Amino acid sequence: MKDTMKAVVKTETAPGASLEEVPVPSPSPTQALIEVERTSICGSDYHIYAWNKWAQEKDIELPHIMGHELAGRVIETGELVTRISEGDFVSAETHINCGECYQCRTGQRHICQDMEILGVHTDGVFSEYTAIEADMLEINPPGLSPELASLQEPLGNAIDTINAGEPAGNNVLITGAGPVGLMGILVARALGAATITVTEPHDYRRNLAGELGASWAIEPENLEEHLNQNLRAEGFDLAAEMSGNKDALRQGLEYLTPGGKMAILGAFDGEVSLDINQQVFKNLRVEGITGREMYRTWYTARRLLREQIIDLKQLVTHKFPLEEFERGMELMESGDCGKIVLLT
Ligand SMILES: [Zn+2]
Ligand SMILES: [Zn+2]
Repeated sequence: MKDTMKAVVKTETAPGASLEEVPVPSPSPTQALIEVERTSICGSDYHIYAWNKWAQEKDIELPHIMGHELAGRVIETGELVTRISEGDFVSAETHINCGECYQCRTGQRHICQDMEILGVHTDGVFSEYTAIEADMLEINPPGLSPELASLQEPLGNAIDTINAGEPAGNNVLITGAGPVGLMGILVARALGAATITVTEPHDYRRNLAGELGASWAIEPENLEEHLNQNLRAEGFDLAAEMSGNKDALRQGLEYLTPGGKMAILGAFDGEVSLDINQQVFKNLRVEGITGREMYRTWYTARRLLREQIIDLKQLVTHKFPLEEFERGMELMESGDCGKIVLLT
């Protein structure tokens, strides 16, 4: 095996990242060394690349290898690893929990008080090889392509957001058709939503939402008219906020039906002012979503893909070799993309 590998490294507290030749990591006794086959760009990778406010506030240690979504082959395991073997086709959970806090000890590892994130606080997976704690690895169905297997991590976000309410037979609103919002359409459909309305200002993504099976994909300013025309002003039973846009959140709360549920995955730039009385007197339930349930949601994601109940193929709009990661980041900036996969 080689001693060095290509990796996308974040070196400075400024926009950008660089392709470097770095040593291949050696796995600790509890880690597995993985040959990365596919990795995909997440919104958080773009934030770190662009070094925006979100990234600046994250306490990120530099330099580090970027990226956290992957599919690859295990080529070596540490001496204490038993569940994972050489040759396994794997993907990884990206939240590294402490194992000791109240949440970790009460079955809520995904909201650990001392959480670290792969590719944010540790070396990530935008590289030819990566060493990851074996406990965080999930074995993929053999028939699943590496590029779709790499998408299970954000798919888990979409599953937990839609599952926070009761999509079956109900009117679902998804605000924001970025990659996770788009996955939300597929998940809501799979879980039996009667109607799925998507609001998205960006043309490319709104069109993609329509192609992926949204009942209606509309511009945010047309939401009230749509509700009156097509949903007999019933309102939405579940609103999934996927955009991090303050107006989208306010709109979701306004058009939720009394007793409805708001699930918020989007992260916001600063504080948001809301009319709390609206929530009180409409008896709304509001829940924040972060990460994925470890590891229940991985089982759900895997089953939905393995049984072909959802197909993520249409969501992958661009593929680039790792060396051309900057093209992917530029596309993320423009919004003219679904999910972008990097070939290592
Ligand atoms: Zn991700
Ligand atoms: Zn913990």
